[in-house]
Amino acid sequence: MSADARALLEQLRALPLQQPLRILNVCGGHERSITQAGLRSVLPATIELIPGPGCPVCICPEEDLYLAIQIALHEPVTLMAFGDMLRVPVNVGKQQPASLSAAQAHGADVRPVASPAEVLAQARAQPDKTVVFFVAGFETTCAPVAAMLQAPLPANLKLLISGRLTWPAVALLLADPNPGFDALIAPGHVATVMGAEQWRFVVTQHHLPAAVAGFSAQSLLAGFYAVAKQWLAGAPTLVNCYPEVVSAHGNRNAQAMLEHCFQVVDAPWRGIGVIPASGYDLQPRFDAHNARLHYADYQAQSRRHIGTMPPGCDCAKVVLGKIRPTDCRLYGGLCRPEHPVGPCMVSDEGACRIWWADAARRDAH
Ligand code: SF4
Repeated sequence: MSADARALLEQLRALPLQQPLRILNVCGGHERSITQAGLRSVLPATIELIPGPGCPVCICPEEDLYLAIQIALHEPVTLMAFGDMLRVPVNVGKQQPASLSAAQAHGADVRPVASPAEVLAQARAQPDKTVVFFVAGFETTCAPVAAMLQAPLPANLKLLISGRLTWPAVALLLADPNPGFDALIAPGHVATVMGAEQWRFVVTQHHLPAAVAGFSAQSLLAGFYAVAKQWLAGAPTLVNCYPEVVSAHGNRNAQAMLEHCFQVVDAPWRGIGVIPASGYDLQPRFDAHNARLHYADYQAQSRRHIGTMPPGCDCAKVVLGKIRPTDCRLYGGLCRPEHPVGPCMVSDEGACRIWWADAARRDAH
């Protein structure tokens, strides 16, 4: 920990926090940084850090994943997706491939990808074969995809978009009279694109302290200190603790590209249900590249999977901050990274996987 981070920690410890203060962090990246830096163990005992809904793999609706698997299995395509989507299981019978990786093992041409540029290059390299790009992610994933869509697209490129906006999930939590947290750490990378001001509603409408934070221990501690001070003073406001990359109104160019490419729609979140105006889908100008339209026959099948979770999996409650990963009765037993039952144990941004990896790291030492 840097000297500046240590100084912030001392300032935080010096605050007269008598009552429990529950701080929700929205972002899976934050949860990873908090856990890897061991911040929970050094904070005052009155502060509880709660992982929230910011893991795109965890909330990707089962029906979209099922649709991607069916397209990969039954159509002569190359299906490309960001790496951690490949192992996410869907809830199907034992005879059927339950993930994109399993589909790959059944002969489907499924490939992990690290950037939209790779997808474009692949589509151009094989003009006689369709490439389907399965995009599940938040604003930070959708913005580079929108940038890709500015270039002329090869006719053989189709997109299966399962994009999500972050703030509506927090708004959903805050609509509950008992949201389960007292202050919010807003996601720094989303705020880079959308601006810190997008989180002002937490303060103005719900009267909770909020801070935008980056991913270093120092930036996170600055965020915790900012919200703790506001909470003690009973004067909530929004503080930007990541000013080196986050501005009040974000990246206008990226926002313009998002608007050009995507329409905001009501969208399902896995295990949670439909959240109004929380999804990105392609604008009609991209209909020729919209995999949902091109493979509409599979949609009816995929709809049967709406909202399902593997039996016994509590990912929905983990994602909403209602329980901690270790509260799930499958955690560490039936569900481990090498045989994940739910999506939160698959992704590097899933709280269950992060907590499990941390415990394993501590055991190893
Ligand atoms: Fe789901 Fe596994 Fe986490 Fe339980 S431990 S909530 S089954 S991912």
